Amino acid sequence: MGMDVSRRGFLKLSGLSIAALATGLGFDLSVAEARGYALKLEGCKKIPSICHFCSGGCGLLLHIKDGKLIHLEGDPDNPTNEGTLCPKAASLQHVAESKDRPMKPMRRAPGSDHWEEISWEEAFDRIAKKIKEVRDASWVREDEIVTQEGEKRKVPANRAEGIAVIGSAEVDNEECYLLTKFSRLIGTPYHEHQARI
Ligand code: SF4
Repeated sequence: MGMDVSRRGFLKLSGLSIAALATGLGFDLSVAEARGYALKLEGCKKIPSICHFCSGGCGLLLHIKDGKLIHLEGDPDNPTNEGTLCPKAASLQHVAESKDRPMKPMRRAPGSDHWEEISWEEAFDRIAKKIKEVRDASWVREDEIVTQEGEKRKVPANRAEGIAVIGSAEVDNEECYLLTKFSRLIGTPYHEHQARI
């Protein structure tokens, strides 16, 4: 009768069998692993970075060679994750190298069924014009309040209700400062962070 082994059990058994075989033959796997690791990273530049997936801000060490990400791992000196990473961060290499990743601004015109590449100048210009258009159309100049005496009164509001600004875990302190200034400048009261949604 065959043995009933789950997928997880099979992987465990395979690992144990290989380790047992290697030990039986006199190999020290840790030496081979360390050598493989060193060979893989030979000539790489080590760059500390931050994972962008959630608000945890875990530290990464990126190993780059010829402009290509060869390997990434948790940064042991980062007090947040102390060298550990969750599976999302471990998949970052595929995000960085994905051929589906847009590297230039894209626009899908009204009624069109496809995206077209546009220049950064055109993208900035269109965004600026749209912000102005929406801000003007949704501007609330006054609010009506009821005073303690029961009297209705108009008070200045001056806010852009049609625009919201959202930050992300990838935004650093200085960028957060600028983003907050931008929100206040254009007058939107809706200023949020990705991690709170
Ligand atoms: S490694 Fe995981 S927990 Fe840490 S910031 Fe990235 S997604 Fe969040």
